[in-house]
Amino acid sequence: VKLVYDFTEGNKDLKDLLGGKGANLAEMTNLGLPVPPGFTITTEACRVYLDSGEEPAALRDEVSAHLDALEAKAGKRLGQADDPLLVSVRSGAKFSMPGMMDTVLNIGLSDRSVQGLAEQAGDERFAWDSYRRLIQMFGKTVLGVDGDLFEDALDQAKRAKKVTVDTELEAADLKKLVTKFKKIVKAEAGRDFPQDPREQMDLAIKAVFDSWNGERAKLYRRQERIPHDLGTAVNVCSMVFGNLGPDSGTGVAFTRDPASGHQGVYGDYLQNAQGEDVVAGIRNTVPLAELESIDKKSYDRLMQIMETLENHYKDLCDIEFTIERGQLWMLQTRVGKRTAGAAFRIATQLVDQGLIDEAEALQRVTGAQLAQLMFPRFDDQAKVRQIGRGIAASPGAAVGKAVFDSYTAVKWSRSGEKVILIRRETNPDDLDGMIAAEGILTSRGGKTSHAAVVARGMGKTCVCGAEELEVDTKRRCLSAPGGVVVEEGDVISIDGSTGKVYLGEVPVVPSPVVEYFEGRMHAGADDADELVEAVHRIMAFADRKRRLRVRANADNAEDALRARRFGAQGIGLCRTEHMFLGDRRELVERLILADTDAEREESLRQLLPLQKRDFVELFEAMDGLPVTVRLLDPPLHEFLPDITELSVRVALAEARKDPHENDLRLLQAVHRLHEQNPMLGLRGVRLGLVIPGLFTMQVRAIAEAAAERRAAKGDPRAEIMIPLVGTVQELELVRDEADQVIAEVQEATGTDLKLAIGTMIELPRAALTAGQIAEAAEFFSFGTNDLTQTVWGFSRDDVEASFFTAYLEKGIFGVSPFETIDKDGVGALVRSAAEAGRATRPGLKLGVCGEHGGDPESVHFFHEVGLDYVSCSPFRIPVARLEAGRAAS
Ligand code: ADP
Ligand code: MG
Ligand code: MG
Repeated sequence: VKLVYDFTEGNKDLKDLLGGKGANLAEMTNLGLPVPPGFTITTEACRVYLDSGEEPAALRDEVSAHLDALEAKAGKRLGQADDPLLVSVRSGAKFSMPGMMDTVLNIGLSDRSVQGLAEQAGDERFAWDSYRRLIQMFGKTVLGVDGDLFEDALDQAKRAKKVTVDTELEAADLKKLVTKFKKIVKAEAGRDFPQDPREQMDLAIKAVFDSWNGERAKLYRRQERIPHDLGTAVNVCSMVFGNLGPDSGTGVAFTRDPASGHQGVYGDYLQNAQGEDVVAGIRNTVPLAELESIDKKSYDRLMQIMETLENHYKDLCDIEFTIERGQLWMLQTRVGKRTAGAAFRIATQLVDQGLIDEAEALQRVTGAQLAQLMFPRFDDQAKVRQIGRGIAASPGAAVGKAVFDSYTAVKWSRSGEKVILIRRETNPDDLDGMIAAEGILTSRGGKTSHAAVVARGMGKTCVCGAEELEVDTKRRCLSAPGGVVVEEGDVISIDGSTGKVYLGEVPVVPSPVVEYFEGRMHAGADDADELVEAVHRIMAFADRKRRLRVRANADNAEDALRARRFGAQGIGLCRTEHMFLGDRRELVERLILADTDAEREESLRQLLPLQKRDFVELFEAMDGLPVTVRLLDPPLHEFLPDITELSVRVALAEARKDPHENDLRLLQAVHRLHEQNPMLGLRGVRLGLVIPGLFTMQVRAIAEAAAERRAAKGDPRAEIMIPLVGTVQELELVRDEADQVIAEVQEATGTDLKLAIGTMIELPRAALTAGQIAEAAEFFSFGTNDLTQTVWGFSRDDVEASFFTAYLEKGIFGVSPFETIDKDGVGALVRSAAEAGRATRPGLKLGVCGEHGGDPESVHFFHEVGLDYVSCSPFRIPVARLEAGRAAS
């Protein structure tokens, strides 16, 4: 295999092999743009090296051949004493990755060739400046010398000379500095700075390979879920010099504003400098627009190139460039990062410019970005006092009083206070406090820390790893740099989208995107901003493209109406258990405790009209759209009092010799119904089969409600869904009874109700026997929450807080299977059940109603396996619509 590609041989589609930087350098070269010649060592070579500990045998020769070619083109050899060719060695993985080895510039300089460079350039200062940079970068990144030692020596030189910026150091000063730097290398690395240019280059290449497994790089990959086995490419690029005097310089630019998407001149420029100075902030840069007055010719050329790049990549690009004595060179470009809002704006702008079509526009935005735009945020006009910054772990804007332990968080929130839970890091003991808090702030841990994982699961704002904040849980305070101390009870504000932490209350404003979905802001209206306009258009693109329909999980009319505003095309899951709580609880208690048929029937008789009213309201809210009603699912004890509380009450009453008859019976029932493992106990269809009349009452309520809506000229489209079926027999039994009830209601009201009866597929057995089950089911709805629990044998309520962090850190999975569907396991069951179901009953309607229905990656999977719809909470509907559109384009 070929291990080295000249810049003229690659292209932008070879990112896997050449890394992002290498692929794009090749692309620019082939576009005829001024790129200094060079070559790229492939990720493949890196992988061999990382696996075996040795560079592939052929690598040295291939590098030599490419170096020869480079030297021939330049007319000089690497490090040639009288006129040296110099190169940079640059890392470049497929994804840009902080923590990897930085670039080493000026490779090829030595005690001898530095003189040659000085003569050729006619500038001694420049040559020595370049040499000291080489030793500094090489010492730090290749030989592992503490970079501060070089910085300190540089500062000392400046102090000795009483100057503040390094450009004021003269050749003689820099020469001395080089001697100093070499001493540092010798002392720290235990070897001399290598004088052989090829050795310099080879060591740097190896250092880039090794940096793939640096601690920071590994951590970053874990957090960003980048596979560990990709490896990095290495770019060797002839040097061009921005530090050759005032007619030289270096800069960065964007083809449009990465914050707003607006076209214009965005970037920074630094005169008489090499690339790393811009990032290091050593001297103040000037806005790119000023380059026009500094060097009009280069400026115009740069503008022209940026246009070429935008038209070519059809997207926002960011750029690194250098000007060497009036000659412009391109050193890097890539499709640039942007804010979520800018992603939407840029996508529509590019459509308007005719650069991309609607399908492509959908690929330029993500559901995650849309979700981010839907969180309330801090008012950016507000005066704020930032006291720290951590990792943006779970988005949102949270304000509350600082508390430092879970107990206080719960206590204060019970008394109506909003609190922010602050911990060094969280653990499962903090769970109650996390639930009670508005937001969570930790000073330790990254995106897979306990706090981050649990907060994301709960949809709670979280900033983690704010390391400059010192958390003292004993003294109940937090110290920020600059002497700020936050005591328990002081108000702070945390921004889970930026990671910023503020002292005091920052006003929160609703998201304009939510205002738009809610219908309180209209695209096209004067007050709608560009963002809303862009979201409106992208959603229209998505709706036109998508095949999957999107329904809502909603239990009442209010949620249903909101879901409709958000674009729901029906209800995929109406949970009836919520209708059994509140003041109806007593009726349910009586139903469960009933000793005689008569007692039970009486409770059911009283529940019927209440249930029916719920459904009438719901069908009205969703008029004309399907509403899937799930019959009662949870374990019965959820409707009964807490066993401990009740035992205490009964014991106290007995001590007073005044036992309450009802409490005693209740306690017996609670004991009888108590289950070790309620999620696997008496629930779902099992309840319906064990408690006579329960399901038929619910079916009757649905049927009568539908008939009533019909009579009122409505268009109810109810579907009845049986939960937790494991075998077709269960379904058949419930079905027979239900059919009979429906027939009765049809007869009594004279309406043909067309009620479909289907089932959830949420047990492995149901999935495995889906072909049989489909004989009795008119539709399937995959309950992927329970299916995930039962396929993995995970109790969701327990595992997320206990060992999931460890699993994520160990890389057992990259994301919780409750967040994104586990395609290989749970997903495989969904796929085969869908196929088996449709084999039995062609046209069987298939949906999904677990949390996964609103998860971007899962939506793509459900599209691919051919489901008809996904159902998710109202708030996630726009995300599901967008992702369904993306999946189809
Ligand atoms: P990073 O990925 O950190 O941006 P780069 O490889 O792009 O690292 O290089 C760091 C800096 O050095 C950039 O400003 C880049 O423009 C500059 N640079 C890299 N190679 C050369 C070169 N051959 N000539 C001049 N400057 C270079
Ligand atoms: Mg760069
Ligand atoms: Mg379930």
